[in-house]
Amino acid sequence: MIPPREALQRLREGNQRFVKSAGEKKFVTHDKPIDLMHDQEPFAIILGCSDSRVPAEIVFDQGLGDLFVIRVAGNIVAPSQVGSVEFAAEQFDTRLVVVMGHSQCGAIKATLEALLNPRETRSRNLKSIVDRVRPSVEGLLEAGMRPDDELIERAVRANIMASVDHLRHGSAILEQLIQEKGLMVVGAEYSLATGVVDFFAEGGA
Ligand SMILES: [Zn+2]
Repeated sequence: MIPPREALQRLREGNQRFVKSAGEKKFVTHDKPIDLMHDQEPFAIILGCSDSRVPAEIVFDQGLGDLFVIRVAGNIVAPSQVGSVEFAAEQFDTRLVVVMGHSQCGAIKATLEALLNPRETRSRNLKSIVDRVRPSVEGLLEAGMRPDDELIERAVRANIMASVDHLRHGSAILEQLIQEKGLMVVGAEYSLATGVVDFFAEGGA
């Protein structure tokens, strides 16, 4: 456990390193320089999990202004996530949306646990995340099952696909952008073991 003051200090020092090196090229990966103080042209929208091991900018080696990132435990799609994607797709003409889940996702494990072993949850707010994941993984379960690695893996994929589907069909604005502007919504899974991102569901609606 890292005490909070030490954690805060780490963030401060990290930010100082960042500020010192921000002039270096590594944070700007655009071909043509854009004025990041006044403008942004993110080339992809990433809906990812909040898991500390899966920061989109780092795993895709991108710099400031490159990615519009929405992170929420379990990369679920609730109205505020749809709204964020709509905003970026309309505002910045970003044409790619990636729903990125990851192996061994805690939100998926918690949902499987809750389904296999129902008991009172302490937090209604946490339950709202589990309830979003539930419909896509419920069908994978049979009585007496245990949440082994294979089940978790299948549930991770099913949950990513559910979020992809929701973004493709749960918003009139996004549907229009898909049909008229070729907006693409794809699924992806990051492997904690290898660091490799596997893209899927690239075609079709
Ligand atoms: Zn996760």
